Amino acid sequence: MTIRVAVIGAGAAGLCALRHLTTRQHKFQAVCFEQNSRLGGTWIYNDKTGVDDHGLAIHSSMYKNLKTNLPKEVMAFPDFPFRKDLPSFVRHEDMLEYLESYADRFDLLKYIKFSTTVSLVQPLTYPDKVTWQVTYKALSDSVVTPVTENFDAVMVCNGHYSVPFIPTIPGLDVFRGQIRHSHNYRYPAEFEGLRVVCLGAAASGQDISVDVSTAAKQVYMCHRKPNLQTYLPDNVEQKPGVKNVTEHTVVFENGEEVTVDALLFCTGYRFSFPFLSPECHLTTENERIVPLYKHLIHTEYPSLSLIGILKTICPFPNFHNQVLFVIAALDGTMTLPSRENMDEDTAKDFSSRLKRGMPERYAHTMGTMQWRYNDEIADLAGFERIPPVVEELYDTVHITRVKDIVHYKSVNYKLTGPNTYITINGDNPT
Ligand code: FAD
Repeated sequence: MTIRVAVIGAGAAGLCALRHLTTRQHKFQAVCFEQNSRLGGTWIYNDKTGVDDHGLAIHSSMYKNLKTNLPKEVMAFPDFPFRKDLPSFVRHEDMLEYLESYADRFDLLKYIKFSTTVSLVQPLTYPDKVTWQVTYKALSDSVVTPVTENFDAVMVCNGHYSVPFIPTIPGLDVFRGQIRHSHNYRYPAEFEGLRVVCLGAAASGQDISVDVSTAAKQVYMCHRKPNLQTYLPDNVEQKPGVKNVTEHTVVFENGEEVTVDALLFCTGYRFSFPFLSPECHLTTENERIVPLYKHLIHTEYPSLSLIGILKTICPFPNFHNQVLFVIAALDGTMTLPSRENMDEDTAKDFSSRLKRGMPERYAHTMGTMQWRYNDEIADLAGFERIPPVVEELYDTVHITRVKDIVHYKSVNYKLTGPNTYITINGDNPT
């Protein structure tokens, strides 16, 4: 008997899920629901901000000049390299083209219902099993009745860089200048000649501070970390966190006050699963999603999984591993531990994070932990680990980025084996 799987979203995670489900046709039948009219998720750049023609919030957070912050040699799915003629750090258009080629190569288009939004996912519980009612609606100019279909499993791949998080800052309501979140940042010209405060200096905060500085008069990149020891353009200055805001000024935590024209929040995003009914028993509190085994599988309803919620990772290789892990659980290749044992494993992971001083909201943040996690789920489900060179090159790029956030993307890399790579336009590190 085939297992019917609903995949929600045709971004990188959903495509990866489809690729592996549909090559196991004897076991799975997959349908992917995508609210956009094309695949690619966040990589579909849109000049517009706000809502689309159907009144849905624009999903993509891409900005015009974005180049990836990881080289294509580590970003690729392990079974599908990027085009060789591209530089290591590619533009968002190249990422989209890569995902389109991936879908072509594995013949995925025929499984995707485009312009179709999932509005509700509900479990139906029987004494011996759980199935899923998925309600979806075609987006159209005319009135369309929603359709409900039954599935044996649901893989949620709806992305987590679409719902902006803006911290509470005293005085924000009286500020007279522009207030923008990085989700709605598109190009530097919108800030021509302005004094801009970029709040946050994680990947997007660093990149956007540099990008906007090409048009802005002055950029204050403010954050609570020790000052980055990096090269910066002359008009970019690091500042501490923001204490409060007045009509025209920002007061930093060291008491210093500057007059500014715009606040650009590079403060991250919130998880959001508006289509999961309360009966799904999935909650998000302080950016911690429970109850998930390995940040992935619902422990009460193991046929419900969330692909790609981890933060600070190398996304596509991680999606590849997570998808294979879920598939092994669904088709019985791997037996999951009991619900109690899965919950215990999750609690252990969470408390070890707290012990290391990580705040609760970092429950799904991986950083250096991602490699052990990837290997662990590969070993548990019995599939091949990601080659060590991915970690090595990822670490090297991190080191070069820390030193020079402006120029690190001009270096190129080439993989020469599962453990080796060479740097072009630089030293050979291996
Ligand atoms: P998404 O790409 O967000 O796709 C989710 C899909 O689900 C969307 O197509 C959406 O329309 C659909 N969807 C949502 N809700 C519904 C619904 N109810 N019904 C139907 N469809 C729905 N990663 C890298 O590897 N390298 C980088 O350099 C890099 N840079 C980044 C820069 C920015 C500014 C951002 C925002 C992200 C960056 N990332 C980068 C991370 C990127 O998010 C991941 O690489 C990856 O593309 C995420 O894929 P996803 O499928 O999880 O989510």
